[in-house]
Amino acid sequence: MDGKKQTHQFKTEVQQLLNLIINSLYSNQEIFLRELISNASDACDKLRFKAQTEPDLLSDDADFKIKITADADQRTLTVADNGIGMTHDEVLENIGTIAKSGTAGFLQALEASKNEAALTPELIGQFGVGFYSAFIVAEKVTLTTRAAGTDKAVQWTSTGDGAYTVEETTKDDRGTTVRLQLKPLEKDETDFTDQWTIRRIVKEHSDFVSYPITMDVEKDEPIPENEQLKDKDDKPIGETTRKVVQEETLNSMKAIWARDKKDIGEDEYKEFYSHISHDWNPPLTQLHLKLEGTTEYSALLYVPSKAPFDLFSPERKHGIKLYSRRVFIMDDCKDLIPDYFNFIQGVVDAADLNLNVSREILQQDRLVRNIRRNLVKKLFELFEKMDTEKYDQFYQEFGQILKLGIHSDFENKDRIAKLARYRTTRSEGKMISLTDYVANMKAEQKEIFYLTGDNLNTLLNSPYLEQLKEKDYEVLLMTDPVDEWVVQALTEFDGKKLKSAEKGDLDLDEKKTEETGDFNALFGYIKSKLEGKVKEVRASTRLKDSVACLSGDSQDMSAYMEKILKASGQSVPEVKRILELNTGHPVMDKIKSLYENDRDSDLLGQYSHLLLDMAVIGEGGKIDNPSQFNKLVGDLMTKAL
Ligand code: ADP
Ligand code: MG
Repeated sequence: MDGKKQTHQFKTEVQQLLNLIINSLYSNQEIFLRELISNASDACDKLRFKAQTEPDLLSDDADFKIKITADADQRTLTVADNGIGMTHDEVLENIGTIAKSGTAGFLQALEASKNEAALTPELIGQFGVGFYSAFIVAEKVTLTTRAAGTDKAVQWTSTGDGAYTVEETTKDDRGTTVRLQLKPLEKDETDFTDQWTIRRIVKEHSDFVSYPITMDVEKDEPIPENEQLKDKDDKPIGETTRKVVQEETLNSMKAIWARDKKDIGEDEYKEFYSHISHDWNPPLTQLHLKLEGTTEYSALLYVPSKAPFDLFSPERKHGIKLYSRRVFIMDDCKDLIPDYFNFIQGVVDAADLNLNVSREILQQDRLVRNIRRNLVKKLFELFEKMDTEKYDQFYQEFGQILKLGIHSDFENKDRIAKLARYRTTRSEGKMISLTDYVANMKAEQKEIFYLTGDNLNTLLNSPYLEQLKEKDYEVLLMTDPVDEWVVQALTEFDGKKLKSAEKGDLDLDEKKTEETGDFNALFGYIKSKLEGKVKEVRASTRLKDSVACLSGDSQDMSAYMEKILKASGQSVPEVKRILELNTGHPVMDKIKSLYENDRDSDLLGQYSHLLLDMAVIGEGGKIDNPSQFNKLVGDLMTKAL
């Protein structure tokens, strides 16, 4: 950069987001300060982390601080930090050009809902408004920053209306200063330059920030006796107090997790939650732990009440911050908690952790591994003990991600499986546990039956369930994509095998297999007429009312899995299915006689195709030749009526 001022356009989705924030958060204006302070605090965290390996970065100033300056006459409010700062490229990258990953999806979802009212503060809160919230109150924002360890500074300015400018500047010390030119003060509006307003907001939203948030405040100070003007009777004749400016720290910086549980009120727990999570909704519950002994640590973990919009995004950060003796070490600490718990927010403070630990070393650290094992155990206990209502609420939001653990955490898969809930053919819309399922099994039932698919209604009416319904066996209806991975990993529960209702031989009655002998020739004939479209034609063990369905061998991919993979753009190897025919259905006897009496009839070939089409339609699939299907059915109706 050659020092010239450059003007850039906001990326479309950034501008959209900005407008959205400005227009919808009008009644929650004050959160802008929390966001700016939180960025300042993050910047201090980052520098502290970096300085662990490059101590020189702190040689100019080792004490982190966030300073607020208000000027009522100029209507400016400034938040300054001595954190890591940003280089020119980082400014371009972090502010204006790139919106958080998932923003586009978030905006699309909003657009799709077509409902302005749907845009509640809670929704945006889940998204996290960040830096752009400054434009709720400011008509112009000026950010000046100097990256720690460099001597060049950059200034970024914008009025939030499409464009921003970036230019080189000078700055005496490291860190970032964000200066807001506030909008003109209207009657009855909050004045954000007012000392007491600022104090209140900091106390309310940022009290737990672990760096001092200071402000210069004017105070009345008594004038010392010997400096006062006095008359001859030694009575003061002038002022006895004078105005002085003093820097005051506004936040308590208390490490709530290090305190005794019994001294902490629910409100304090909630406040700390919104501080670390930026979630406006109160947490569902929290877990406050203090462990002594060989693995000494304390932790304060929260279960949010709502899932964030980007729960499944691979770039999503884990919500645990790592401290050692109240000193921040790092956030996004993936080694402390498995992925299937990545929605947990909180703090872990391990007393004996090496402060200079790097992310790579952390992975192999025994202390960290022990803490992780312990946290996982405590979280399981928390969920196992939760009352039904709370648990249902939790499961609704986080059940999907939790179930990933069945696939990824071999050691704990049975414990996670116990936490899973499913609708079944008999649960009438309610979700039940596998434990309940097993308890309800029929005396002669040996296996746990399930069916996967994306639509509950299609599953409930699936022809695969006909025999199972006849037997009054309950079937788990698995409608989450992750369930396909669940059933791959969970082959057994409580000693009972899990069995797909659409794959393999259902084998509910032994006699079925013997009966089919005299159909075999017909089946071979139908298979040949279908010219390689199916890998086998056989008598069904699962149909009762329907004539035909498609199934797979037990090790084949399910239809739902195939759909999921195709939807995610993966190439799926062509797997031929098995056409199952219901030998108990009168139409099969008719076709069999036709086959035995008039093997050359054109109808036989046509019916073979019709049977296949019926099977495809029965599972909600698309048939190859709909017009031929229509013609055949039309002909049949004409004959029948
Ligand atoms: P988030 O904090 O969730 O990442 P923000 O919109 O609040 O999102 O901030 C965007 C990015 O801008 C931050 O991730 C950070 O890289 C950068 N940033 C914002 N404020 C500061 C600051 N005071 N010091 C250094 N970097 C900052
Ligand atoms: Mg932020």
